[in-house]
Amino acid sequence: MTLTRREFGLAGSVGLLATLSPRAAAAATDPRVKQAAWYDTVKRIGQTNLNERDPEHGDPERWAAFWASAKAQAVLVSVSGPIAFYPSKIPFFHHSRRLGERDFVGECVSAARKRGLRIIGRMSPDHQWYDEATAAAHPSWFRRLPDGKPILFDPNIAITCHMSDYFSDQLPRTLEEILDRYEFDGMFTNGWPTIQKCYCDTCRKIGDPNSAVYQAALQKQHDASLALFRGMILKKNPGGFFTNSFFGGFGGGDMPWRLSRSSSFSAGDAQGRPKLEDPVWDGSIDAKIAQSLMRDRPYALVTSGFGSTSGSDWRHISNTTAESLSRMAQTAASGGVVWHHMLGMTQSFSQDQRWQELVKPFFNWMAANDIHFQNKRPLAKVGVLISPRSMEQYKAPAGNERATAVEGICKVLVENRIAYDFVHVNDLGAERLAQYDTLLLPNVALMSDAQATSLRQFAQRGGSLIATFETGLYDETGKPRADFALADVFGIHKIGDRQKWNPPPFTPQAMHYQALKGASPLTDGFGNTPWIAGPLWRIPLAPVADAPATFMPLAPDGPPEMVFANGGPTNEPAVVMRQVGKARMVYFAGDNDASYERADMPDLGRQLANAVRWTLGDDAGLTVSGDGLIEVNVWETQAGFAVHLLNYNAPNALNGRLRKPIPLGTQSVTLTLPTATKVRRIDLLEAGEPVEFTQEGRTVRFALPSVGFYEVAALIV
Ligand SMILES: [Zn+2]
Repeated sequence: MTLTRREFGLAGSVGLLATLSPRAAAAATDPRVKQAAWYDTVKRIGQTNLNERDPEHGDPERWAAFWASAKAQAVLVSVSGPIAFYPSKIPFFHHSRRLGERDFVGECVSAARKRGLRIIGRMSPDHQWYDEATAAAHPSWFRRLPDGKPILFDPNIAITCHMSDYFSDQLPRTLEEILDRYEFDGMFTNGWPTIQKCYCDTCRKIGDPNSAVYQAALQKQHDASLALFRGMILKKNPGGFFTNSFFGGFGGGDMPWRLSRSSSFSAGDAQGRPKLEDPVWDGSIDAKIAQSLMRDRPYALVTSGFGSTSGSDWRHISNTTAESLSRMAQTAASGGVVWHHMLGMTQSFSQDQRWQELVKPFFNWMAANDIHFQNKRPLAKVGVLISPRSMEQYKAPAGNERATAVEGICKVLVENRIAYDFVHVNDLGAERLAQYDTLLLPNVALMSDAQATSLRQFAQRGGSLIATFETGLYDETGKPRADFALADVFGIHKIGDRQKWNPPPFTPQAMHYQALKGASPLTDGFGNTPWIAGPLWRIPLAPVADAPATFMPLAPDGPPEMVFANGGPTNEPAVVMRQVGKARMVYFAGDNDASYERADMPDLGRQLANAVRWTLGDDAGLTVSGDGLIEVNVWETQAGFAVHLLNYNAPNALNGRLRKPIPLGTQSVTLTLPTATKVRRIDLLEAGEPVEFTQEGRTVRFALPSVGFYEVAALIV
C-alpha cells in the first residue's frame, strides 16, 4: 500500500503551520518560557538495527539521508551488545567480522549529525558474544540453566547474567569508551532490565531465582547498574537522556512503575500485536500503559516495520499491510512518540525498501502538523484503573487470563467511542484523579486499605466508580478479605465464593442470565426482553433493594426440550447501582468485562457501556456519532485541542494484520471544552481542509464528511 500526500493532507496543512510558527518562535525566545529538553517535544524516531554484515555494504549516508527526508527527529545507532561496529579497544568486545578498517558507528554518527538528526545510542546489555576464549576467561558473564549450561541465543551469542561483573565492569568500561569517542543525545538499553532466572555460581550463592531474596537482590543490582549508566551518560551530556526497555502489556508487576520513576523518557519495546488475535488497538493499550507510568514525561512506542507478531515474524522483510501504520497512528493518537524500527541497514536500504513507502509519508504528515501532536494534557473523562501487581498475583478463574477483564473494558470503551486513560494503582492522589468523572475498576482483585481509601475519597469528592467481580476481595498481599474493600461505597456484601456458570449437575452447560427489573439507565437497548445474558463467573451477593438486575436460577442449555426458565428471577443481585450526591456507583457481581472479552456476547458490552454513560451524565466530554468502529482520543494541544479518530474498519483488523481501512461516512462530533475558549478554526489534518463548526459556550459541534485511515480534527484557538 502506498499512501499519497493527499491521503495525509500534507499540502493543506503547510499554510496552517506557517500561521502558527511566529507564536512558537516567540515562545522559544521568551526567557519566561522554560526551555524544554530536546526530547520533551520529539515525536518521530527512526531505528535501523545494525547486524554483523552491515559494515561490509551498509551505507550510512543513504541511511541518514532517508531519515532526514522522512523528517525523523532522532535516529538510533547500535553501539554496544554482542558485536562492536567500531574499533573498540575493550577486551572481549567482539568486532564485527566485516568491520575491517571502518568505524561504522562513527560514520553513522557523522552522517546523522550533519543532517541535524539527534542520535540515540542503542545498548544491548542482554547479549554478549560467546566463544571458547570468552567462556574460559569470563564464565560468570553468562546466564545459566539449572544444569549449568549457558543460555545461547545463537551459537556465538549468549544471554548475560545481570548479577555478574559484565554489568559492573565490562559494560561501564565499554560505555566509557563509547562516550569518549562519540556524542549522543540519548542512550537506550534494549532488552534489559528483566526478571532473570539464572543458575550460575554467583546466583546460586544468592538463592533460588524464584525466591523473594533473589528477586530483591536482582532489583538492587538493576538499580545500581541503572544509576551507574545514567550517571555516566548524563555527566557527559546533561541535556541527554537515558532509558531502559519497557515491554508493553500489563505484565512486569511493580517493575515498570519502579523503573519509570527515574526515567525522563521511556521506550516501550513491544513493537506489534503479540498475537494475531489480539485487539487491533493493542498499540493504543501499550501507549496508554506508558502514559499511566510517565504522565507528562515523553513515552515512545517502538513499531516494527516487519510487523512483529510472535510466532510468525518474517524479520528480513517489510510488512506491507497497514498494521505498522496503524500502530504508529495509535501511538500518536495516545500522545506517544512514534519510533519506527527495521532490522539491518543493508537489507532495509539496499534490498527490501517497501517499508519506506509507509513510514516517510506518515512521518512527513506528522511533521507538517507537529503543533497538533504537541499535547498539554489528555481530556478523557474516564480512567481505567490498572494494577499490574493484582494482575500478576491474582488467581483468575478458569478461562480468564490476568488481563482479560481490562481488555474487555477497553473493548467496550473503544466500541462505544469513549475516550479513556489508564490510571496506575500507585497514582491515586486527588490531583491525579481530578481529571476523571468516572473510574473503572475491572476486577482489581488485590487492593490495599490505602488504595481503597483513595477510591472512597474520590467518590466522596463526587467521582463515580464502576467495579466488577472480585474487585477488592483480597488485600495487597493476595490474602482474601471477608468482604469487599469498597463494600460501603457500593452498598454490597459477599455471601459466597465465586461460582462458575456450569456447576454440577449441569452438563455440558447452564449459563448465567440476568433478569431485568424494569427500565433503568442500564437497560438502554434492552426494551423488548425480560432477561439478558449474564457473565461466565459471579460472586454471590446479599440481596439489596432496587437491584436493576438479578440472576435467574441456573437452567440447562440442552436438550432443546429442557431449555426454559427454571422459575422466576432470584433475589441475588447481578448489578447494584446507587447515587450518593454527584457520585454514581455501579457494581457488577460477575466478570462481565472478562466474559465480554472472551465470548463477545453483545448484551454484556451494551450493559457495561450503559453504566459508563450513566456515570458520565449529560456531559460526556466528547461524543462522536456515525457508523463504524472508531477509537477516539482527545487532547488539549499547543494549538488548542485535537480530536483523534482511528478507523479500524479494515479487512483483517480483528484477527490478522490490518489492511487499508474502508473510508467511513459522516461522523458528528460534539466536544465540551474544559473552558469557554473561543475556537477560531478547525482543520482536518488527514483530509487537509478546514471544517465548519458551531460553538455555544464550551460546546463545539462539527461534522466530518468522512474518515479515511486516521483523522485528526485540530481545533485552533
Ligand atoms: Zn547468574
